[in-house]
Amino acid sequence: MNVLHVASELAPLIKTGGLGDVTGALSKALAAQGHAVRVLVPAYRSLSRQGLARTEIVVTAPFGAQDVRVRVWSGLLPGTEVIVHALDAPEAFDRDGLYQDPARGTDYPDNLARFSLFCRAVLAAMPHLDWRPDVVHAHDWHAALVCAHLAWGEARSMPAWQGMPTVLTVHNLAYQGLFPAAQGAQTGLPSAARGQGGVGFRGQVNCLKGGLLSADRLTTVSPTYAREIQTAEFGCGLDAVLRRRAEDLTGILNGIDVDVWNPATDSHLAARYAAEDPAGKAACKRALQHELGLPERPDLLIGMVQRLVEQKGVDLLLAALAELMAVPVQLVVLGSGAASYEAQLQAAARHHPDRVAVRLGFDEALAHQIEAGADAFLMPSRFEPCGLNQMYSMRYGTVPIVRRVGGLADTVVDLTPATLDAGTATGIVFDAYTPVALVAAVARATAAFARPARWRRLMHHGMTRDFSWTQAAGAYARVYEQARTRQAVAP
Ligand code: ADP
Repeated sequence: MNVLHVASELAPLIKTGGLGDVTGALSKALAAQGHAVRVLVPAYRSLSRQGLARTEIVVTAPFGAQDVRVRVWSGLLPGTEVIVHALDAPEAFDRDGLYQDPARGTDYPDNLARFSLFCRAVLAAMPHLDWRPDVVHAHDWHAALVCAHLAWGEARSMPAWQGMPTVLTVHNLAYQGLFPAAQGAQTGLPSAARGQGGVGFRGQVNCLKGGLLSADRLTTVSPTYAREIQTAEFGCGLDAVLRRRAEDLTGILNGIDVDVWNPATDSHLAARYAAEDPAGKAACKRALQHELGLPERPDLLIGMVQRLVEQKGVDLLLAALAELMAVPVQLVVLGSGAASYEAQLQAAARHHPDRVAVRLGFDEALAHQIEAGADAFLMPSRFEPCGLNQMYSMRYGTVPIVRRVGGLADTVVDLTPATLDAGTATGIVFDAYTPVALVAAVARATAAFARPARWRRLMHHGMTRDFSWTQAAGAYARVYEQARTRQAVAP
């Protein structure tokens, strides 16, 4: 099948979070299963052009009130058969940040114009690429308007696009692409599609909602999150829309890129190791303590790598910190995000210099070193569509301590006498979003850590689980087939 992905991020070329990991690994896995896969991304300033070359293809597309020229760059995603086309529109994408101005820490005010341009440039450029997809797979709100245009816009009747099936994946429902209604015309959608039956939402434009209503099939990144987002608690205002489309919505658990995240070959590590011979992990722990200025102690070393935002439970960690310091643990945090979280974490590191180390910023190498060097990995998320780090952790023999939400609930099996005996236990899972529950979970982890044979079994169970994309890629291929048999959706 010919599969066209439309996405704002694509690892390893451009990534700020899990979205990039998923589009990169999924396209690679689909290609490995024999599908012809292409990915269209914006040519951000920070996009790595490795393997890409400027082509002669130039199209025009509206950017706010003006028409701009968009040049296509093409090449292969490094080490794969996946063809990448980057859409180069400097007015919109030659900037320091992807979504936000890093100097101000606020979203670019013209984001609707930028991502409308991206989606319309996709529609304009594809017919010049000598290739027709069998299905278009859009990711998150940045690409959702492609589905809306194909269902409701002029593109619907263009020969290149007629009858094109679409799939939209929600990687995180909290990011919807919300803009003032006055900007609605910038979507380029006909007025009927800008109302309540389309992108109109509580007096605003909601790009994701447009995609949720117009795509032939919907997916999200774990079965539990697929159920959660149909409830008021997790639905971010779109639960009714999702309930309406419940029959078309599938939760497909993300895999991980097992080549990039492999402790046996990882070049970022001080030593390499595997499930059969985990000895090198101790050297990784010492190297991490040394690198971050923590004393070499035998205590449970807990790692965290995440965006420092409310979703990830940073407030919970901060509220629990004083009590956590009463438990024999060291804590390493790598992340960036809200200034107040960054400041509070740095203050904690100053107060507990031999217990807490904090690194602010995005650092791929250090992320790998934390996954390998930590004994346990903490994810106290308020909500978590899938989460990747808990899977990286298990593969690296680092026992995840997670809250029972979304993909965390689907991937980590709580340690109990029964699951330990059955060989299924892989981590510590807690329920309540409270400091007490978090501290109790960490205390359970330290108790298990104090029993080395038990801990080694936990590590081994996690390290030998299959988190590859093979199954998920097959599940997506089935959704593509379903999309191809669907009728168009009217606004
Ligand atoms: P989300 O997409 O919500 O941020 P995921 O767990 O799905 O969360 O994916 C996050 C990805 O981004 C992981 O690969 C994680 O290691 C990476 N990541 C997040 N913050 C950082 C950081 N500061 N430095 C390096 N990698 C990071």
